[in-house]
Amino acid sequence: MKFIFSCPERGTTFSTNAFSIMDGQRVLTDAAGRKILKATIVLHDPCPVCGKSHHYRADEMICPFTPNH
Ligand SMILES: [Zn+2]
Repeated sequence: MKFIFSCPERGTTFSTNAFSIMDGQRVLTDAAGRKILKATIVLHDPCPVCGKSHHYRADEMICPFTPNH
């Protein structure tokens, strides 16, 4: 399953399935009662756009699931 990521250096999106969701993930509820996933997603490979390593907060993800078509 590939996730869509956005390079924070260039603002370009790319997809990869080479990532890990760090331990310590948990779900918080904010003041409005919405559930927020608190986890950090770390890429296994350098960013294909800029070549740096990035990590992301789960609640910053653009689109968690990419359709297979
Ligand atoms: Zn990048």
